[in-house]
Amino acid sequence: MNFINQTQRNSLNPLLLNIVSYRKSGLSLNHIVGCSLNCAYCVRHFFDNFEMKEPHMLCTDEEAVNQLVNHKFFISNITPIQIFNRATDPFLRNVKIHTHEILRMLDELGLKNTVLVITRAKVTKTDMEQLEKLKNLNLSLLVTYSGIIDQRIEPIAKSRITEKSIVNIATYKKKTKLILYWRPIVAGWNDDNASFARVFNVAQYADSIVYTGYYHRPENYAYLQKIGLEIQYNDEFARRKFLPKELENKILAAYNESKLKVPLFRKTSCGVVFAQKLPDYNGHWGVNEICNICPLEQQKICWKHYKMPTKNEFQKLLDRYNYNSKFLIEGGHIWTENLGEERRYHLQHILGYQIWDIEKPHFRNQHGRSPFGQLQNEEQKSEYEKLKIKFNNEVINDDD
Ligand code: SF4
Repeated sequence: MNFINQTQRNSLNPLLLNIVSYRKSGLSLNHIVGCSLNCAYCVRHFFDNFEMKEPHMLCTDEEAVNQLVNHKFFISNITPIQIFNRATDPFLRNVKIHTHEILRMLDELGLKNTVLVITRAKVTKTDMEQLEKLKNLNLSLLVTYSGIIDQRIEPIAKSRITEKSIVNIATYKKKTKLILYWRPIVAGWNDDNASFARVFNVAQYADSIVYTGYYHRPENYAYLQKIGLEIQYNDEFARRKFLPKELENKILAAYNESKLKVPLFRKTSCGVVFAQKLPDYNGHWGVNEICNICPLEQQKICWKHYKMPTKNEFQKLLDRYNYNSKFLIEGGHIWTENLGEERRYHLQHILGYQIWDIEKPHFRNQHGRSPFGQLQNEEQKSEYEKLKIKFNNEVINDDD
């Protein structure tokens, strides 16, 4: 694979040059940029990188691992790690050699961190043999499969490569976990019975299933329009993923009817920790409505490990990392301000407790999704306004 040249580097979105970044499911390593799969809704539209079809390296694998394990947010055996989940697919023909190399190097450091590798490309028996040689890392493969067959949306659908990968992983995995990543689910694209049936057909091979909606922003909407694809969300854009309530109800009803034995989860980390038999590192137990579809034995694991920090403990943690924020601890989450996403995730993964930003409201039963298609009543809005007052008063009292 070629290294990126100076001209390409100069035109790259600066966010892509930052090869280690913190996202909700973990510290994410992305030193390869470019993908040939052409999924219409791709997040690379947001970085103006969709036209780079050939993967390019931003630095060597050694340098990438070095940056990851020496990163200010990285904690051995604790920080969840994700590899190549922003700008390429880790199992593309010329990318997979680097995926294996990164995993090998991390494993040889004796790290026991949870690692998420998300793919929809070709995973073979040989790949699985290599992955099974890893001794220390807690590896989960999340295979993205939506049941979409419209090749304008997902050109890979024609080859059925993803379905074959799922069967290969299931056949040859021993320690590695397999999560069926059912996404994106989009009203009007893949919420019909035939699409659901295709998903459930492959889901039977997985250790768990995670379902989620899709990011709808001006950049990918412009592309959808360009290729003549319709979407019911039109120009209602949002920072969070779209999964209207009606669509979610349809998903849950179809899943219940399917009688599948493989558990279904709303959150990525929940599907991963169930497969690994660990408590949720994002502390979703604190957003307990999320847990009503989770198996009882897993609920017990999360409940047992769940601990609300005291004010003193949280302040000490902020001081240790030199983070400056007012905060308010409530049952299930801590409100903070001006920390930014990365520092919030850093604290969240250390504590296994939800860390929220006072300027980004969470409403009951929305599970952190875009407001589109959700019930947002006046009562919820006024509750939020009261909360902001409480947040400020709490600080005034503390200063006293
Ligand atoms: S109990 Fe709740 S937090 Fe824990 S894995 Fe299940 S859904 Fe997630």
